[in-house]
Amino acid sequence: MLEASRCKKGKDTAKFILEWMEPGAYKEHVGGRCPDRECLALIEYRVIPDKCNMCGLCQDACKYSAVQGEKKKTYRSGYLPFEIRQKRCTKCGECIKVCPTGAIVIVDVKTKEPVGV
Ligand code: SF4
Ligand code: SF4
Repeated sequence: MLEASRCKKGKDTAKFILEWMEPGAYKEHVGGRCPDRECLALIEYRVIPDKCNMCGLCQDACKYSAVQGEKKKTYRSGYLPFEIRQKRCTKCGECIKVCPTGAIVIVDVKTKEPVGV
């Protein structure tokens, strides 16, 4: 296709397919994993409870009300932990940018293991 196509679109498409079919990336995607964290269907944003200091910055940053949890207040105990509601999350990445403790990670949908780190 790369050699036989007469138009730029055909050649570009061939290049795209060849890049995508590189053995490593192809196998990973067939196995349901995106090492580049670009395929939104294969990743999720998650809060690591042990790292979360309950500051609430992620909740303030999320435009889709996908973060649930309660900010820590000195006079209270028994907080609702911070979590990301997957059904609401658009995977825009704004929460990760503001988290001061690195408590939000991108994980593999299937294994729930962090990807691309
Ligand atoms: S990735 Fe975007 S939509 Fe999802 S929880 Fe973070 S800020 Fe909200
Ligand atoms: S920004 Fe990070 S540390 Fe703060 S509540 Fe969200 S996940 Fe926890």
